[in-house]
Amino acid sequence: MPADAARLTIDLDAIAANYRLLRDMAGGAETAPVVKADGYGMGAGQTALRLWAEGARTFYVARLAEGEALRRALGDRAASILVFDGCPDGAAGRLRAAGLIPVLNSGEQIAAWADAGPCALHVDTGMNRLGLTLAEAAEVAATGGLRIDLLLSHLACASQPGHPLNDRQQQRFTAVRRLFPKARASLASSGGVFLGADYHFDQVRPGVSLYGGGPHDGHEPRLATVATLEAPILQIRDVPEGDSVGYGADFVAGEPLKVAIVSAGYADGYLRASAPDGGAWFAGRRRRLLGRVSMDLIAIDITGAQAKAGDMVELVGPNLLLDEAAKAAGASAYEFLVRMGRRSRRRWVGEA
Ligand SMILES: *Cc1c(COP(=O)(O)O)cnc(C)c1O
Repeated sequence: MPADAARLTIDLDAIAANYRLLRDMAGGAETAPVVKADGYGMGAGQTALRLWAEGARTFYVARLAEGEALRRALGDRAASILVFDGCPDGAAGRLRAAGLIPVLNSGEQIAAWADAGPCALHVDTGMNRLGLTLAEAAEVAATGGLRIDLLLSHLACASQPGHPLNDRQQQRFTAVRRLFPKARASLASSGGVFLGADYHFDQVRPGVSLYGGGPHDGHEPRLATVATLEAPILQIRDVPEGDSVGYGADFVAGEPLKVAIVSAGYADGYLRASAPDGGAWFAGRRRRLLGRVSMDLIAIDITGAQAKAGDMVELVGPNLLLDEAAKAAGASAYEFLVRMGRRSRRRWVGEA
């Protein structure tokens, strides 16, 4: 790989530390990592292997193909892999061949799975996304015939601890659970883990907080930084007072500036920042972004700093926290994470 590309460093030890924090918070409940969307861009296989070593035995993905890939990555390890998409028509054979457990979301999916083995059942308790209605769930309970290992529901407002829907969903879930006394129960994503023991039931399903994203729409200092996005300086230029920088000439220099053109743009997951102050870190301090983020390039103010082409600039990482970078770009930590790994060179540090 030429050295002109953005580089994403993924710290597997940090993922492991975040897993242990969540597991300790979850008390006796099982902690089942969510590694959908290639582990939120951080590498599903690498993450799962590291967390297997930490003791994780159940993993979640969204898509059938993600489940098949994860099964291959885990080799002969006897992990349970659950698929949020469930069993679309015609998928039962592939699910079974890869030893995947579908999270059945509808009557059609229940019919498509028939009794092809253990499954999980998703009941909607107020999000109105996937899952059976409470009435449909009662019908399934009365009919029987499925091997339901796990009853699952998902919180719509887990990132807002004070939201009244959390409580309502928790109560509905508690009620519907009584219909399936033999199944284990799982309600909490990352935000739900932090909501407290009433939300933990038998299993929690954290995703974003494993990767360092705060559970409640902001930085959580107890979580370790997982992702560091850096990119090299391609060129350094002196911009005279009155000249503009970048597309649209949005930024005009009010004084002579030393400007570094950095090899990272929105195609590298560096989302267009709505608040450009401090959008990059170089030589020990925050540097402002000048003008618009291009597809492949950004310009930063390095006036007063020693720099040369090839020097690396931090865009997200220990000095520029994921949640803050996301907020500045008007995005969520989730979006930032999944976009960062697309074009950059990913490398993993820490024990796998
Ligand atoms: C993505 C997802 C999770 C994980 O959510 P985080 O907020 O990333 O912790 C858990 N459960 C379901 C159903 C999901 O879709």
